[in-house]
Amino acid sequence: MVGLGPGGSEFLTFRAKAALEEAQVIIGYKTYLGFIEDLLTGKQVISSGMRKEIERAGLAVQYARQGQTVAVVSSGDPGVYGMAGLILELVPESVEVEVIPGVTAATSAAAVLGAPLMHDFAVISLSDILTPWETIAQRLHAAAQADFIIVLYNPKSKGRDTQIARARDIIRSHRQDDTPVGIVRNAKRRGEYRVLTTLGNMLDEDIDMLSTVIIGNSQTRIENGHMVTPRGYRL
Ligand code: SAH
Repeated sequence: MVGLGPGGSEFLTFRAKAALEEAQVIIGYKTYLGFIEDLLTGKQVISSGMRKEIERAGLAVQYARQGQTVAVVSSGDPGVYGMAGLILELVPESVEVEVIPGVTAATSAAAVLGAPLMHDFAVISLSDILTPWETIAQRLHAAAQADFIIVLYNPKSKGRDTQIARARDIIRSHRQDDTPVGIVRNAKRRGEYRVLTTLGNMLDEDIDMLSTVIIGNSQTRIENGHMVTPRGYRL
């Protein structure tokens, strides 16, 4: 399982690159394979659409059992809402597995905004395809109440566009309207776009599936255009 990082090839780790070079078969969602096009020559490449995770994982296991070296690619880190867990649930003991970490969206988006994750933070996916909304809502309440910085993955998609407003309203019930919020689309890859806003105004911005939203804690500030959560040093 290979984490590709946010997308730009300069954010691929050396180990991830080597694993892709070693692989005979490379399997992944087609958008992610586009990030590593130059590494695909001479390989058997299996690309599939979103939501075909089980099919993809099954194929990976099948090729590995036949003795092939298989790389299953995920964007960011394969163990963060990626393919790693599913593969480990399916793979037989006879197949050797390596999970290769990657720079996850939380930290690549944070880097684009400044340093918003300098203190305790919670990562919450707003996708209720595999998780009931009640669970997500409960976690949003708990994280907001405990003053965690909150990183939202999968904030919105075409068929799923109400969760972000509901999430915002839950967080707002525990936090001030002027709390800084950063939205990053396509962090550290082509098309990068960032906006700094507030909890009160964040819904006026464009938010989609390619975006990560970071909501500050009670201490987070904007310093010279950077979103910063103080670590607590006395200056
Ligand atoms: N395994 C991935 C996350 C997959 S879930 C990782 O570790 O990063 C998909 C979500 O990740 C997207 O909806 C978006 O919220 C976020 N994401 C992934 N790459 C991103 C990028 N380059 N910029 C902003 N958000 C990104």
